[in-house]
Amino acid sequence: MKPDPIYVARPRLPELSDMMPLLEEIWGSRILTNRGPVLQRFETALSKYLGVEHLSVVSNATQGTVLAMRQAGITSGEVITTPFSFVATAHAIRLSGATPVFADIDPETLNLDPAQVEAKITPQTRAILPVHTFGIPCDVDGLAEVAARHGIALIHDAAHAFGVRRDGQSILRHGDMSVLSFHATKVFNTFEGGAVIVQDRDTKLAIDRLANFGFADAVSVDDIGTNAKMNEFNAAVGLAQLCGFDDVLAARHVVAGRYSARLEGVAGLRCVCPTGVAGHNSYAFPILIGPDYHIDRDALFARLEDANVFARRYFYPLISDLAPYSDLPSAAPDLLPVASKAAEQVLCLPLYHDLDEAAQNRVIDVILAGS
Ligand SMILES: *Cc1c(COP(=O)(O)O)cnc(C)c1O
Repeated sequence: MKPDPIYVARPRLPELSDMMPLLEEIWGSRILTNRGPVLQRFETALSKYLGVEHLSVVSNATQGTVLAMRQAGITSGEVITTPFSFVATAHAIRLSGATPVFADIDPETLNLDPAQVEAKITPQTRAILPVHTFGIPCDVDGLAEVAARHGIALIHDAAHAFGVRRDGQSILRHGDMSVLSFHATKVFNTFEGGAVIVQDRDTKLAIDRLANFGFADAVSVDDIGTNAKMNEFNAAVGLAQLCGFDDVLAARHVVAGRYSARLEGVAGLRCVCPTGVAGHNSYAFPILIGPDYHIDRDALFARLEDANVFARRYFYPLISDLAPYSDLPSAAPDLLPVASKAAEQVLCLPLYHDLDEAAQNRVIDVILAGS
């Protein structure tokens, strides 16, 4: 008989006792959506928790990124992005009417390389859309410099970056806008959800209007908005999730630390995320399986599966290798050597706040066997 399955992620749920008063409030008021009172309290509490001044909670990060693009005035032209991400990053560019242009990544951080971005700038470039992949901050200063030099927007896909800080400040303060995801598998979840972090109140109000069909007031619509509203139920989950959330992050660090302690120094294997670095969120535990490891990445993936351990090959295939994008000139694999190699070598190990040590040892034992 096989041991219990271990999946790559396991969502954290708030205490039902923290949910019930909020549900009673919603059931009592019958205000279900359209920036209700629970959502407004969630926004305020979330801004405070994250250490940012202005944000709009939305239905998910994909819609949030489309809104950010629209707010930045991007309806055509090119947007430079990373191929080493979840497909939604490129979809958001396409859905807003622009064309993604892929640039290669840095081999250390696996994030967009500012020099590679600069080499892709053309008169058609409207924005840069980098990702803080696995919660590792991208080179926010280098990218801001490129964006400023060329007068283009900088919108961060911060889907992995909930709670990430650098020099004591939220990483979400960088760039023109940042977009968080609260999908079930992310560090912080509202089942589905997201937020757009912006620099001033007027922009926040503009995002709110775009998320509600572009309504400026009851009788005027000032732009082609969409429906990206978060409802009161999801907002209640968010509000309740914030209770005790520091403990969730601390527990994730413990799990990541146990992987590092046993896997750092294994021949041919590199742990991508720095551990013990203040401000990281231990969103994931990616490893790179190089030629000096005794088997290749896919063979290790299969061995883990045999042991009922479901690691994930994030991010493989590259977005640039997926059907909607593979014909783009910038998608040619030989133009993206670092990302292509990372996609062949990467494996994300199970990591969640309550992954117990015995289960984690099953994962580690498979990796150490034979090496
Ligand atoms: C999850 C994810 C998204 C999409 O988030 P949703 O809230 O599910 O729309 C976008 N970008 C990255 C990098 C992601 O991991």
